[in-house]
Amino acid sequence: MNSSAIPISILTGIDDAEIVARKAFLEFTGADVALLKKLHAHLEAQRDPFSEVFYRHLQHFPQLLPLLGNTEKLERLKHTLSVYFSQLTEGEYGAEYVENRLRVGMVHQRVGLTHQWYIGAYRKYLHELMPAIYHLLEGDEKKCIATYSALLKIVFFDMELALDTYFYAEHQVIVREKRFSKQIIDDMPSGLVVMDTALNVRMVNKASLNMFGLDTAETFVGQSVTQIFGTSKNLTNALENVLESGEMRSGLAFERQDMQGHKYYLANISRALTEEGQTLLFFMVSDITAYKKAEEHAQYLTQYDALTGLSNRSTVYDRIDFACTLSRRGENAVAIMLIDLDRFKLINDNLGAALGDELLKQTAARLSSCLRESDTVGRTGGNEFVMILLSMSAAADAAVVARKVLEALAAPFRIAEHQLHLTASIGIAVAPGDGVTAQELLKSATAALRQAKIDGRNQFCFFQAEMNQRSQRDMQLDSGLHKAAENFEFELHYQPKVDLRSNEICGLEALLRWDHPERGMISPATFIPLLEDNGLIVPVGTWVLRTACAQARVWQSMGIKPCCVAVNLSAVQFHRQDLCQVVKQVLGETGLEAKYLELEITESIIMRDVERAVQTLRELKSLGVKLSVDDFGTGHSSLNYLKRFATDVLKIDQSFIRDITTDADDAMITRTIIDLAHNLRMRVIAEGVESAAQLAFLLRNNCDELQGYYYSKPLPVEACTALLKEGRKLSLAAD
Ligand code: C2E
Ligand code: MG
Ligand code: MG
Repeated sequence: MNSSAIPISILTGIDDAEIVARKAFLEFTGADVALLKKLHAHLEAQRDPFSEVFYRHLQHFPQLLPLLGNTEKLERLKHTLSVYFSQLTEGEYGAEYVENRLRVGMVHQRVGLTHQWYIGAYRKYLHELMPAIYHLLEGDEKKCIATYSALLKIVFFDMELALDTYFYAEHQVIVREKRFSKQIIDDMPSGLVVMDTALNVRMVNKASLNMFGLDTAETFVGQSVTQIFGTSKNLTNALENVLESGEMRSGLAFERQDMQGHKYYLANISRALTEEGQTLLFFMVSDITAYKKAEEHAQYLTQYDALTGLSNRSTVYDRIDFACTLSRRGENAVAIMLIDLDRFKLINDNLGAALGDELLKQTAARLSSCLRESDTVGRTGGNEFVMILLSMSAAADAAVVARKVLEALAAPFRIAEHQLHLTASIGIAVAPGDGVTAQELLKSATAALRQAKIDGRNQFCFFQAEMNQRSQRDMQLDSGLHKAAENFEFELHYQPKVDLRSNEICGLEALLRWDHPERGMISPATFIPLLEDNGLIVPVGTWVLRTACAQARVWQSMGIKPCCVAVNLSAVQFHRQDLCQVVKQVLGETGLEAKYLELEITESIIMRDVERAVQTLRELKSLGVKLSVDDFGTGHSSLNYLKRFATDVLKIDQSFIRDITTDADDAMITRTIIDLAHNLRMRVIAEGVESAAQLAFLLRNNCDELQGYYYSKPLPVEACTALLKEGRKLSLAAD
């Protein structure tokens, strides 16, 4: 409720009982009321004599003139005043009268009329009324005294009320001032605790209550300050020093543990003397926990990687330096392992940085689980981790850890709705043999890592002296590859696939060739990983697709019996959003019917993110192209998935075919894959068939097709054209 709506009599505490009490004090009785009423009738009969007289009187006081205003305002005031004085004798002095008097009093007080003016006004009123009473009562002494006494009583009653409004208004000002000061002290951003000389709390503001997790000020006022701060010697000493010396103490840092955790504070302490001569201590304090934490975090970030919490690059390098010192002293064999997540960029680009980050965090956790007490693991770059292995008894210990790391990473990673298969390549350098400084050791580990990648990734490789030369060569290769890719200095060879029922060519696989100006023919197995790393695989892959489709059209136009041309897709191509679009466009441009194009995707590419792969395979399938799973048997497919791939052909990896005639396991695996493919209504083809014995085995086990040197090596276009024209059948003669 707004205070102006509350009756002033209530605010000032003048209720009915108080009115009765006051009247009793003044001996104001019904007889007085009767006398006043009589006087009133007489006064009313005179035409407003008092207000005129009164205003003339007021005009003698220049300080009142501004309050009287112009003629119009003066007339209004005169009227108000005549009503006011007339009510004095009206004879109604109950609650309504009191409320009205108080309200007028408040107005007067607000416009600046002081209480002296009130008293002066009543004095004038009484003075002016004396002759009127005398005349009314025709000089009867007793009656005159009685009426005058009644008038005095009501005038004093009124004056009391006027003074009440003044007290009330003044009290209000004090209350407001007090509230204002309290609010300022409470809302101060820093905490304020006022103490007496015994270090007992006299006052705490709201900020300090919040800061120290205290509930109400009342609980602490009067208590010793140690209640709030605990018994920190440092703090009590500082308080006592200021108390004794009077010298202000600033920047006092202290810490405190409370329910909300460990907190840091900074305080200023000063001594003050009150007007009453009391000595007080002012303790002004700020909570600097957030600042401290930020500082600690900044310090942490100089040593640790913010994402994974592992040691960061500079810490790792420092530790390698330290490890090198140990190895120079001959105390321990020390190894460093450079761990690079294979094709991480692909995952990051396709799934987005947030999931990529999550993958790195999970990787960090798995790597940490492979550590021994004395080892360190750190993250030195995007997807590059370093392990420092101290106190190894032999270099072979590093191989044990490396194997452990590869195993730890082999289990699929669950990230959001994805199940990702990740592998890593590891380069190992051992001090002091492979380097005696951090720089040398890292260089050697980098060369070993490169070799592990070239060797097919998902493996570790120890540094060997000739690697430095080799990595030099690889760098040259990489720059040569850039040029070749820009100018498409590649060619395609085609390797026939043969149907084992008709013994005729039923398809051709396009295989990329790079004839290096100095090094001759380089295997795609060497340069395709490099193209994948530098991103050039995308334009080169599209070139392969277009060239193979165009070539198939050429053969068709030469009247050669149409057969499917197969193109290999790299992981990078397979995971690009625009793959279907590109395939569709190439088919459109070359005019090749979709059913004559086959896309080979290795099992390991598909298994890297099965859900996405299933989706992509379905989209490709809807274009009408054929799909085959390349290198089948090497990529940990589960039967469950295989059903969902919508592929047409399984290509049994050549590593199984190589020894089918001598190795019972490989023979069994091959037989199983053939049965499996047939059960899933897929065709099955054996890769790398080199001998009639292998062919005989495949025939016995109902394999559908073969591809391999036994029938033909991959051939340049002209040779392949000749072979197609010739239509040579597969010879079944045993060798
Ligand atoms: P792949 O797709 O499994 O191709 C079969 C590989 O086995 C080819 O090696 C082929 O020459 C070889 N090969 C065929 N028959 C025999 C045989 O009887 N004995 C032996 N020992 N090897 C045989 P190549 O041409 O060196 O290609 C290696 C891999 O490079 C391919 O494996 C494929 O994954 C990749 N590749 C080739 N061309 C391309 C391409 O245009 N794009 C992509 N992304 N990858 C390609
Ligand atoms: Mg292939
Ligand atoms: Mg293959």
